[in-house]
Amino acid sequence: MSNWAHDVQEHDQLAAASGVLTIDLQALRRNYQKIAQSVAPAKAAAVVKANAYGLGAPQVSLALLEEGCRHFFVAEFSEALQLRPLLPQDASVFVLNGLQPGNETLCAANDITPVANSLDQLRNWCALAVQQPEKRFPLLLQFDTGMCRLGIQPDEWDDARLILAQAPNADLLYVMSHLAAADEPDSPLNSAQLGMMQAISAAFPDTPVCFSNSGGTFLGSDYRGALVRPGIALYGGAPTARVANPMEAVVSLKVAVVQTRTVSAGSHIGYGGAHVAKAEMRLATIAAGYADGLPRSLSDRGAVYFEGQRLPIVGRVSMDSIIIDISSLPEGTLKLGSMVEILGAHQSIDDVAIAAGTISYEILTSLGSRYQRRYR
Ligand SMILES: *Cc1c(COP(=O)(O)O)cnc(C)c1O
Repeated sequence: MSNWAHDVQEHDQLAAASGVLTIDLQALRRNYQKIAQSVAPAKAAAVVKANAYGLGAPQVSLALLEEGCRHFFVAEFSEALQLRPLLPQDASVFVLNGLQPGNETLCAANDITPVANSLDQLRNWCALAVQQPEKRFPLLLQFDTGMCRLGIQPDEWDDARLILAQAPNADLLYVMSHLAAADEPDSPLNSAQLGMMQAISAAFPDTPVCFSNSGGTFLGSDYRGALVRPGIALYGGAPTARVANPMEAVVSLKVAVVQTRTVSAGSHIGYGGAHVAKAEMRLATIAAGYADGLPRSLSDRGAVYFEGQRLPIVGRVSMDSIIIDISSLPEGTLKLGSMVEILGAHQSIDDVAIAAGTISYEILTSLGSRYQRRYR
């Protein structure tokens, strides 16, 4: 990188960013404690896949480590390789998407714990264990209890037991499964999956259970097992749509106004001229768009906030900007350089997700790389 480019990156990038994404690590810690205390004596892991849902896996993991968290789930092996060196030996890193053939040696050498999702993966891990009898080979075994995504089927349970019996140093830490509809407490899928999880636990009586994501931890003590795996709730998302969100917001996002204008009735606003002004309007253009993770489906639907006032999005969301209607504000209140709230006290990640026709997970994991990120 040239000196110039380096200088730009080091000095100007932060100051020049037109959006500020604040990640409140104190709120994250309180959310973790809330879950950890509610599930005790079960333990609470942290799901930090996809860069901790976009919030920064290193920062999030180290903060939760200080809160006593020792179980960290990522989705992919590459994520585990990045996270593992940051954590102490007594912390475990689990790979939800399983163990790809050829990764076994690297996985063991890096003290990463695989989730075996199939008999093949279990065989491959146990085969390596047999070759190195002096070493311990921890693993989780995932069971499909009805989601049809990952995990072994009921007719494979016996084979799994046989494979494990032949590798005494393969250490099955947890039997694991994942709920398909934990955020819908009334879904009959939940009790059906719980019933199968209980059968698994009976078939593997010496192994503790790891079952619940955020939603599952709020379904009652039956669902908790020995280790819960919350993700979204740690980051402030509602674990279930049914009750008021018990979690604290972790993320706030403010974006700068880059231009204001007044337009007359009949003006066509934004791409495609899709929004036609019914009367004279005052507009502001803000510096974030779908390239920054604000879904295009917010076109003519979502809003931003300024000093508590709701300012609707008008016209289509552009790649780098969004036009908002500021007619409700006294003239001159909002001007070049003003910062409007996209996420914060007036609008949660769930609010934005509902307006966009998606889920909070997608809003968080899409948050762009052009924002200045501040950790509190
Ligand atoms: C992503 C994921 C979680 C975390 O889910 P949340 O709903 O965010 O709490 C837990 N378990 C598995 C298997 C996952 O894929």
